[in-house]
Amino acid sequence: MAKKADHCNFCGRPENEVGLLLSGYEAKICDECAERVAEFVNETRNKARKAPVLKQEDLPKPREIKAFLDQYVIGQDEAKKNLSVVVYNHYKRLMQKDAGDDVEIEKSNVVMVGPTGTGKTLLARTIAKKLHVPFTIVDATVFTEAGYVGEDIESILTRLLQVSDYDVAAAERGIVFIDEIDKIARKSDNPSITRDVSGEGVQQGLLKLLEGSVVNVPPQGGRKHPEQRMIAVDTRNILFICGGAFDGIEKKIGARLNTKSVGYGASKEIHQIDRSNLLQYVAPQDLKSFGLIPEIIGRLPILTHLEPLDRDSLKRILTEPKNSIVKQYKKLFAMDGVKLDFTDEALDVFVDKAIEFKLGARGLRSMTETVMMDFMFDVPSEHPKQLTIDKDIALSKISKIEKRIS
Ligand code: ADP
Repeated sequence: MAKKADHCNFCGRPENEVGLLLSGYEAKICDECAERVAEFVNETRNKARKAPVLKQEDLPKPREIKAFLDQYVIGQDEAKKNLSVVVYNHYKRLMQKDAGDDVEIEKSNVVMVGPTGTGKTLLARTIAKKLHVPFTIVDATVFTEAGYVGEDIESILTRLLQVSDYDVAAAERGIVFIDEIDKIARKSDNPSITRDVSGEGVQQGLLKLLEGSVVNVPPQGGRKHPEQRMIAVDTRNILFICGGAFDGIEKKIGARLNTKSVGYGASKEIHQIDRSNLLQYVAPQDLKSFGLIPEIIGRLPILTHLEPLDRDSLKRILTEPKNSIVKQYKKLFAMDGVKLDFTDEALDVFVDKAIEFKLGARGLRSMTETVMMDFMFDVPSEHPKQLTIDKDIALSKISKIEKRIS
């Protein structure tokens, strides 16, 4: 072998003209040819790859999906149940499609309505962990009508393609979480009737995806690569889960419930309405009053809500989830050989301050981070065996940022 002239047996170039020459059993290959071969192999494999055939016995049952969500998300039982059923049915649809049945089960896209920081994204992310289908999260606020600055709606599918390694068949049965769907509501009471760039036009674009159609997707996304070849993606089997805070929708719900109560047969139910949490009565017509077009609402038949998080839930969030904030910090410190503890009163401080600063669950992490920062800086050099965060430590560390805020 060593006697053979040192050149690439694929392109014929001698060793001194190539970057790297790799030797095989009886042949050599240069780095450029090796790259080309690898690309070719990948492309061929991707073409040959088919979405795996699903089997009924492998499907996680709705209760199983919910039990999994329970490990990571506190409360939100209604949303969890709805999502579990929707995901289970999504799998069943895909199986039915594999079986070529002629009773076609329609897909049920979902919309979750709930205050910010109550777990919408967390639910979607956690579902993704349980699934074996491609999953992506996109933010509706980046989309604008075609032709305007911002991303075209089709780029939602670019991300799905990317997480599927450009395996179109797999992407076509994936799940997309569209966050902040409320931000593309039509601003009907906006007096300046210029173009509603981020409103109805985007909704029309989204409708096409939700309805199920074949869409040409730029594989690299955006408009920065106008020369790129488009990939056709059929959205009929893609499940869309939308989430939004829909700030102010309670007023629309309240107004609807009030109107109902004056009409004929003002029902006695009206007395049982829990006015402190109107979101639980959210109905499709409220989304319409909020500014979503009826066609979109029709394509999001499962409407569910998330509860605001009370004191007790916030405290549970600190400690109970499988990867709770407290567990994460304990692990971080354990890696430096330190046993970290928090007293119950210290946890109350985190919760109280998160509520006081109106930060909700998101505030829990920033409060903990604020309290732990100095310790994270000093402890690795000081090597204490144990560290207990009590109420006084928590309060004194947080008081620093309070001074900054006030
Ligand atoms: P949003 O409803 O705005 O999508 P997120 O799901 O992004 O809210 O929540 C922000 C963070 O707050 C999460 O990453 C998680 O740490 C925490 N969180 C919010 N709600 C819950 C919940 N119900 N259970 C556990 N953690 C939660």
